[in-house]
Amino acid sequence: EGAVNRIAAGEVVERPASAVKELVENALDAQATRVTIDIADGGRTLIRVTDDGHGIDANDLPLALSRHATSKIDGSDLLNIHSFGFRGEALPSLGAVGRLTITSRATGASEAATIHVNGGRIAPARPAALRGGTVVELRDLFHATPARLKFLKSERSETMAVGDAIRRLAMAEPSVAFTLRDVSEGGDRVLFRADACASLADRLATVLGRDFAENALSIDAEREGFRLTGHAALPTYSRGNAVHQYLFVNGRPVRDRMLTGALRGAYMDVLARDRHAVAALFVTCDPVLVDCNVHPAKTEVRFRDAGIVRGLIVSGLRHALAGAGH
Ligand code: ADP
Ligand code: MG
Repeated sequence: EGAVNRIAAGEVVERPASAVKELVENALDAQATRVTIDIADGGRTLIRVTDDGHGIDANDLPLALSRHATSKIDGSDLLNIHSFGFRGEALPSLGAVGRLTITSRATGASEAATIHVNGGRIAPARPAALRGGTVVELRDLFHATPARLKFLKSERSETMAVGDAIRRLAMAEPSVAFTLRDVSEGGDRVLFRADACASLADRLATVLGRDFAENALSIDAEREGFRLTGHAALPTYSRGNAVHQYLFVNGRPVRDRMLTGALRGAYMDVLARDRHAVAALFVTCDPVLVDCNVHPAKTEVRFRDAGIVRGLIVSGLRHALAGAGH
């Protein structure tokens, strides 16, 4: 099982940002209202995610570390996915590539417990002190695989990738408070902070800036079972050359060429201008119309009918731009 976990880990955990994404998703699945992420050295030496969610029962801690054990689906319902996680791979994978410690106190439990795994070897759970929620600490990612370590980018770019992952999840869950701190030796600074927001618009203003909020068109369109909502800036508002286009499918941040292509096409189509305008768009549909289980990292999706979604993005944006006098 150790070798299987290490291979799976390669697909789930490419870099610190992918570990952070998995851990924060677990916190969100546990109904956390506040998630704090501490990293050191770009996440290479330390990633610590603290949440106030429902926690893990002490008896279930070893289970949480075993492969394909998930509390989130019963096996019969793979297509009907409402949680971020469902494959039961993240924790075993992280335990195979770093020193992983999980400390948790389940709601209503009289005490907390902690469990440690390193190189796939799980130490027995022990009682611990924690008032509630879960703290997952991953130290020395890839310490046993120097080849993987070598592929990490500079501390700065790994830190930026972590920030990007957090911002995407913060947009997906406006009501949850997020704090990202760099706790590298010799410094302790807040890199990102978003208090709980009452609306998506508030959260987008926090994450993408007031300028975006003021320049963005509100999108709301529907087509054959697909709904498109969110905000897209006028192409006159852009944030340099970087692409700030955030796409979500059924609440999950995704990176999808078809979707970004459709968005680009829509701007081209309506304004005859090829600009990377800032946008945060949310596609929702019946889960049977989209497969999120294409890749272990779950950031790719496959629509049953991509043509409808493409058309929806073009017409939704066209409509919003026309309404704004373009
Ligand atoms: P998945 O999220 O696909 O179920 P993971 O390996 O990410 O698989 O997590 C395994 C299990 O550990 C989860 O199904 C959940 O029961 C439990 N778990 C992990 N992180 C947390 C957390 N922060 N709070 C509560 N439970 C958690
Ligand atoms: Mg998970």
